[in-house]
Amino acid sequence: MKEPILQCQNVCFSYHNLTGETSALTNISFQINKGEFVSVVGPSGCGKSTLLSLIAGLNKPESGSIFLTNPENTKIGYMLQQDHLLEWRTIYKNIMLGPEISKTINPESEKQALTLLNDYGLSRFQDKKPGELSGGMKQRAALIRTMMLSPKLLLLDEPFSALDYQTRLMVSADIGRIIRSAGITTVLVTHDLSEAIALSDRILILSKRPATIKKEIAVSLTLPDDSLLAARNAPEFQYYFSILWKEISDEYGTDSL
Ligand code: ADP
Ligand code: MG
Repeated sequence: MKEPILQCQNVCFSYHNLTGETSALTNISFQINKGEFVSVVGPSGCGKSTLLSLIAGLNKPESGSIFLTNPENTKIGYMLQQDHLLEWRTIYKNIMLGPEISKTINPESEKQALTLLNDYGLSRFQDKKPGELSGGMKQRAALIRTMMLSPKLLLLDEPFSALDYQTRLMVSADIGRIIRSAGITTVLVTHDLSEAIALSDRILILSKRPATIKKEIAVSLTLPDDSLLAARNAPEFQYYFSILWKEISDEYGTDSL
């Protein structure tokens, strides 16, 4: 049974500044169901990050509406491209930042931090500074910090794009697995089409700015096991890739190459 957690209806949004108006989103409608992993792809600058900021409530739609089915019980976690870990704090202290700011450091939040560090294989690094960790580990630490809020809806804005290609493959599969096993509803913005296919149940393809939803595709891969790295070798992978590639390259046109 599909149970909507979030609904966007005819959402429009423009930025206004001294040089004028930039229309970013027009008539965006979709819903996200509980437990789903949905990716948003589209040409660069089309409005993907804008869409996430609206879902997070950092910006308000100009018209249309965005609502959570159960706002009291839908905490939102938001993770950005850079890990934004504080260099001068240890990993443990970075993870405890949320409880520290909200003055909820107590035995329970301390235990939660230690459990997450253990679950995500970072216990050995809890007293290290971010600079002593690999890119992938830092991204995990940033994820733990987000998970400390016990989010029901996770918004990820290009969370792997600062990583080199090889690390990115490993880390996206790793983090995808962690999120899936926790069953957290997730919206991932990415420009990496393969990543979107490997991780998602559904992909929303946006047009160029001002973004509209061009197409929505449900992804179903035949996997030998639950390894997301193997997803890229699934027989259906190329089929989905060619659909996404066509839709997005149509948006760029040949002029922009
Ligand atoms: P994407 O994440 O898809 O690359 P964004 O959502 O960041 O795109 O931006 C969509 C469009 O809005 C871009 O043309 C960008 O330049 C513009 N934009 C983003 N933020 C602002 C802002 N604060 N003020 C004015 N224009 C902005
Ligand atoms: Mg962006």
